[in-house]
Amino acid sequence: MNKTRLRDEFLELARIPSISKREGNVAKRLTAILEDLGARVQVDDAGEKIGSDTGNLLARFPGTAPDVAPFLLCGHMDTVPPADHVRPVVDGDIIRTDGTSVLGGDDKSGIVAILEAVRQLRERRIAHGPIDVLFTICEELGLLGAKHFDVGRLRARTGLILDCDGVHELITRAPAANRMQFVVHGLEAHAGLAPEQGISAVQVAAEAIAAMRLGRVDAATTANVGRIEGGLASNIIPNRVVLRAETRSLTVEGLERQTRHMLECLEVAASRRSVTIAGKTTGARVETRVERDYEPLAVADGARIVRLVRGAAERLTKPFLTRSTGAASDANVFGGRGLEVANLGCGMRQIHTVNEWVDVNDMVSTSELLVETVRLHAG
Ligand SMILES: [Zn+2]
Repeated sequence: MNKTRLRDEFLELARIPSISKREGNVAKRLTAILEDLGARVQVDDAGEKIGSDTGNLLARFPGTAPDVAPFLLCGHMDTVPPADHVRPVVDGDIIRTDGTSVLGGDDKSGIVAILEAVRQLRERRIAHGPIDVLFTICEELGLLGAKHFDVGRLRARTGLILDCDGVHELITRAPAANRMQFVVHGLEAHAGLAPEQGISAVQVAAEAIAAMRLGRVDAATTANVGRIEGGLASNIIPNRVVLRAETRSLTVEGLERQTRHMLECLEVAASRRSVTIAGKTTGARVETRVERDYEPLAVADGARIVRLVRGAAERLTKPFLTRSTGAASDANVFGGRGLEVANLGCGMRQIHTVNEWVDVNDMVSTSELLVETVRLHAG
């Protein structure tokens, strides 16, 4: 591996700010790099749909070995803020920032591992099948780039997403998620003059939330009410409260069970409250919107993609493990659309903080593992 080249490329890309929806500059640079490497590069229309200054980048490399199925290597171009100016600080093999921004190792560590792997395959004339390199936008905004990408444009049906901390670790299980909004309707009344003519939406919401199992519900499931807003003034019985919540689970059954539970808590709390004024009875009620945010990632340990990476690690005499995570990645989207993909650790550390750092040796290891995996895939 060419460690200096990989480090310099990481530094160059890290210095180009690419907060979600503003990936254009880094996309331009990556297009030039990919074309230099011999790929045909296309940009899709996802940017227009999401409001980014570029779309997803798809680079197609021809294979050098006959009759090998295409392979996907994927990372995301956007980073979380703050990242208006990124000034990497190099300390031996460790790269961090000056403390004013994230480093963007999430996910530029994955991107450079992919680029260096492709370079190595070509320079060392290692026989490989066709390679699709996909760099997405707006991953950090809820996998938006991947969700707006047409997987029919890929030649590959299997491959790796590189977007996770750790090295030699393969994420094969990640939760599905539901995003929920509940609107609790009560009845407005003067809090001092006529409280018996009101129904407090705040009280209904409070009772419902108090009855909910939240946090880490079980080994596979988490749930959270993350936002609550409502009411007008302390002397008005509030007639409307909006709750925003989510649940995640490694299984769809677990996800649906927890979603039902949260709905039931609200319905039970609402059913307890009603008032009758002049013969007319009004009860509290709940409006519910549930949206599937993404599907679970669930790749069996015996799946071909897992066997390939494990085999590659063994040939390099490196450790290897599969594990689950509580966070989603583009792998959830592509897995949900029928591709066999898993998420490979690429050495990013303390991500989503200004203390983020990477070790160049981790990116080198990741790149070596990719080369070996692609080589094995070609037989
Ligand atoms: Zn990421």
